[in-house]
Amino acid sequence: MLSEKLHKALNAQINAELWSAYLYLSMSMDAEAKGLKGVANWFYVQFQEEQDHARILMNYILSRDGKVTLLPIEEVRTEWASPLEMFQDTLAHEKKVTAMINNLASIAAEDKDYASSNMLVWFVDEQVEEEESAREMIGACEAVDGNKFGLYMLDKELAARTYTQAAPLASTNA
Ligand code: MG
Repeated sequence: MLSEKLHKALNAQINAELWSAYLYLSMSMDAEAKGLKGVANWFYVQFQEEQDHARILMNYILSRDGKVTLLPIEEVRTEWASPLEMFQDTLAHEKKVTAMINNLASIAAEDKDYASSNMLVWFVDEQVEEEESAREMIGACEAVDGNKFGLYMLDKELAARTYTQAAPLASTNA
C-alpha cells in the first residue's frame, strides 16, 4: 500500500500534469489563432504528452490498490505576446513540476517505498528533457529575434514535431 502522504501527493501530481496539459493546449490555441501552425503543433504534442504523464500516475496508483481522486483544474492563461513568452512560461512551469517530482521522490525514499522510487525515475529523467527542450526553444526564439522570415522558418520546423506515446504506457498499452 502507498502511504497516505505519498498517495495524496501522487493525486496532486495528476492534477498538476492535467493542469500542464491544459496550459499547453491554451498556448496551442493562442498560437493557432495567430497563424503560427507549427508553434500550435508543438504545444499540441506537449498537451498530449502531459495527458500521458497523468495516465502513468493514474495507472500506478491503481496498480498499488489506491484510488485516484481527480481535483478541479485551475484556469490557465489564454494569451501570450510571442512564442518566446510561451516558451519562457513553459520553462518556468516545468521547473515547478520538477520540484514537485523531486518532492515525490523524497517522500518515496522516506517511506522506503522502492516500487514508487522506481516508477518516479522515469519522471525525474523526463523533467530533465522538458527543461532542456524549453531552454532550446527559448534559444531558437531569441535567435529569431523578431525577424519575420526567421519566425516563418522556425514555425515550419515546429510543425514537424510528432506525438509518441510515453514509454511506460507503450509497454502496458493503457
Ligand atoms: Mg509533465
